[in-house]
Amino acid sequence: MGFHRLGLFGGTFDPLHLGHLVVAQDAVERLALDRLLFVVAGLPPHKVRDSLSPPELRLEMVRAAVAGNPAFGVSAVEMERPGPTYTVDTLRAFRDMHPETELFFLLGADQLAEFHEWREPEAIASLATLVAMAREGSGVDPVSTMTLPADLKVDFVRIPVTRLDVSSTDIRGRVREGRSVRYLVPPEVRRIMEDHGLYRSIP
Ligand code: ATP
Repeated sequence: MGFHRLGLFGGTFDPLHLGHLVVAQDAVERLALDRLLFVVAGLPPHKVRDSLSPPELRLEMVRAAVAGNPAFGVSAVEMERPGPTYTVDTLRAFRDMHPETELFFLLGADQLAEFHEWREPEAIASLATLVAMAREGSGVDPVSTMTLPADLKVDFVRIPVTRLDVSSTDIRGRVREGRSVRYLVPPEVRRIMEDHGLYRSIP
């Protein structure tokens, strides 16, 4: 991969939705990224839900959704490691594979709020430029209020991103209630969800 500027966007993507895609596209443009990889989490240590969908299906949904965008790609590196996966290990793996590439690690507002509890946050920040995605408009995460605890000595940049009020939790809830998720997830994702009966009885 001969990329100069590579963005990494981690998540469980259970399922991927339009909110993820629109902020990823914003990040590509704001940061002039050559490529942005959606890094599908295997077993995220900080997000343990009993009923996380199988990693292969989450990966399939992300792959299907990003296939049409040459700036987007998918990484399954975190799924291939057994047990909980840590961002610092993922970044070290990317650094070792692509020593010449400048890495950008995207964080949503919720992730930034917990970042100081992640394993080796300073090491993460030295391996990649941390990018806090602030959703534009009124609401939960205006750019100016996004901060880290003062005792954590890491730098990060903030970029404004489009605010689309949708979450995977919301999508799963709609399916459980028998409501449509049309226009909230890409058609390819909806098809995979339907084919596999995902989220019909999941909390
Ligand atoms: P869940 O509802 O299951 O917690 P999620 O919708 O937050 O899931 P994740 O897989 O956790 O999806 O997504 C990875 C990251 O993407 C999140 O940590 C969050 O920061 C960001 N994100 C999710 N939804 C949006 C959205 N609508 N706009 C901007 N960023 C988002």
